[in-house]
Amino acid sequence: MDCLFCKIVAGEIPSHKVYEDEFVYAFLDIYPCSEGHTIVLPKKHFGRFTDMEEGDAASLFAFVNKVAKTLEKTLGLEGMNIGINNGEIAGQTVPHVHVHIIPRRVGDGEGNMHTIVELHPSTDNIAELAESIREAFD
Ligand code: 5GP
Ligand code: ZN
Repeated sequence: MDCLFCKIVAGEIPSHKVYEDEFVYAFLDIYPCSEGHTIVLPKKHFGRFTDMEEGDAASLFAFVNKVAKTLEKTLGLEGMNIGINNGEIAGQTVPHVHVHIIPRRVGDGEGNMHTIVELHPSTDNIAELAESIREAFD
């Protein structure tokens, strides 16, 4: 498999691992946005978060919760951003699903996830939009 993160999981490419079990792997980002920026991924290869089954996604997030709490305790954090760049349009550069945990500290820029996108749509049709999404659930 020609996948950077599969190679990291297999130990073919070195990484600063912080945790590993049978299903998941976590390591420090090589180009950290902040000190302690951690990448969490399932060992099994999925391209995108939306390629995963709900059960696999739930297991991944249970583990993300565990890593986030450990970072909070170890680094003395007051908060962090936890997120996924899902798809190239959203900034995903490595096509193996992974969750970013980015520690936040006072004076670091103070932006939140809402600042990622600059174009804000009109809310005129927000009720119809919500209805069409509600109806699409299985
Ligand atoms: P994405 O943009 O796909 O959500 O995030 C990919 C992340 O992987 C980036 O934050 C990038 O710094 C990190 N990354 C890319 N190559 C390597 C690598 O070889 N080792 C580590 N530890 N992180 C990497
Ligand atoms: Zn992979």
